[in-house]
Amino acid sequence: MTNGNEKNEMGWNFDHSYSRLPDIYFSNQKPTPVASPELIIFNDSLATLLGVNGEKLKSESGVAIFAGNDVPEGGNPLAQAYAGHQFGHFTMLGDGRAILLGEQITPQNSRFDIQLKGPGRTPYSRGGDGRASLGPMLREYIMSEAMHALRIPTTRSLAVVTTGEDVIRETDLPGAVLTRIAASHIRVGTFQYAAKWGSVEELRQLADYTIDRHYPEIKDKEAPYLSLLRGVIKRQADLISRWQLVGFIHGVMNTDNMTISGETIDYGPCAFMDMYDPETVFSSIDRQGRYAYGNQPPIGGWNLARFAETLLPLLHEDQDKAVEIAQAEISVYPELYKGNWLKGMRAKLGIFNEEDQDEGLIEELLSMMKKHRADFTNTFVALSFDTERLDFSKTDDFIQWNEKWQERRSRQQDTKEELDKLMRNYNPAVIPRNHRVEEALDAAVEDRDYTVMEKLLKVLADPFAHSSEQEEYATAPPEEISCDYRTYCGT
Ligand code: AMP
Ligand code: MG
Repeated sequence: MTNGNEKNEMGWNFDHSYSRLPDIYFSNQKPTPVASPELIIFNDSLATLLGVNGEKLKSESGVAIFAGNDVPEGGNPLAQAYAGHQFGHFTMLGDGRAILLGEQITPQNSRFDIQLKGPGRTPYSRGGDGRASLGPMLREYIMSEAMHALRIPTTRSLAVVTTGEDVIRETDLPGAVLTRIAASHIRVGTFQYAAKWGSVEELRQLADYTIDRHYPEIKDKEAPYLSLLRGVIKRQADLISRWQLVGFIHGVMNTDNMTISGETIDYGPCAFMDMYDPETVFSSIDRQGRYAYGNQPPIGGWNLARFAETLLPLLHEDQDKAVEIAQAEISVYPELYKGNWLKGMRAKLGIFNEEDQDEGLIEELLSMMKKHRADFTNTFVALSFDTERLDFSKTDDFIQWNEKWQERRSRQQDTKEELDKLMRNYNPAVIPRNHRVEEALDAAVEDRDYTVMEKLLKVLADPFAHSSEQEEYATAPPEEISCDYRTYCGT
């Protein structure tokens, strides 16, 4: 245990607005202490953003907090309740292995949830042990920080500690706790929980709270709940288009894994696509391909429809009218998504004005990529530097497409060089390739060698640098390795 002064020096500045919601939304729950905490990785730049003292937090007393052995000063640990559609089936869930310590108010006056993932059982643990193991927690750290660097809204990772205890899975694995940072952990599933088990008043309180926290600009609107629905649709249409533009496959887009803030959350079986194929699935539990790369945009729409349903009692007193209102809103999502995606794809091709034929040009490229089994990321890098780098640059279909593309780009003021330069800012040199992530995790878990991961994180921290040290990380794995790659839900 540490004394009060030392804790103060850590820079915690907690508020607990979520705990002022009705009792149904959470259960007070302290983390369960562990045998011998050890700090594995710490995010210094994120600590600075949060206004916490990195040096103090890396000391024994800080590590005790990350392990759940000590509660930070001003902390008020609780586990959040939620429900969700998992692979289409509705279930009561809640944080079975996550405890919110509080909301850190940063020097810039932003509010971030500080949450421990893997700190022991909670009232929502069902059959689970409330624990997590080192590999999956480091995986979330790497993937979430890579997504952040790719300019994609996401939860982030402040620290991973090992517990000195094993967790029992198929084999015994080293236990670990991740400290996750989020704009909030309010999910579509939180609203589903409210709609199913709360009163209309409790639902309204959650909606008002969410508006206050994430959509303050709509507070005084005439129809705030309709505006909330609209706002969430807009942010998800933006988020999912960003995933598609870098080839990110979430893997488990259940409604409990979709945030109301519009951040990517819950890095379980997620992975980046190598070879372009809309049917790509890596998750071992997604046997039907429900969450395949190409299905992510429509699944986003499906999840948003579940969100809209929860708001019906707040949209209109006549429920038939409420349904009409919600449907009209939801029907806008595909166009919004498509508009974002088109804009992003244009930028990836160095096109910064709009012409009707652009979509055709993009689709032609994608079908060529599929036919030639081209790497998604590297194709766009090659187009931004030198088309000769493409494996299929000598094919008739590419030569024809390239002519059309060059002609299209010339219908802008900028020179080819200027456009290439702009493109490089939209086409990352590196993504967290599956074989590289596995290599880093193997070294960490098997050999307790963290240098491989640290080097990978460094390279991923600035994906648009196109630096020479990134080159070896840009190589795609052999096709058979990529296609056989399987990811497993965070255990
Ligand atoms: P996820 O697949 O990580 O989104 O988890 C789905 C649900 O299962 C969430 O409510 C988790 O909190 C819960 N859960 C996952 N792993 C465990 C565990 N080891 N112990 C208790 N609950 C868990
Ligand atoms: Mg989840």
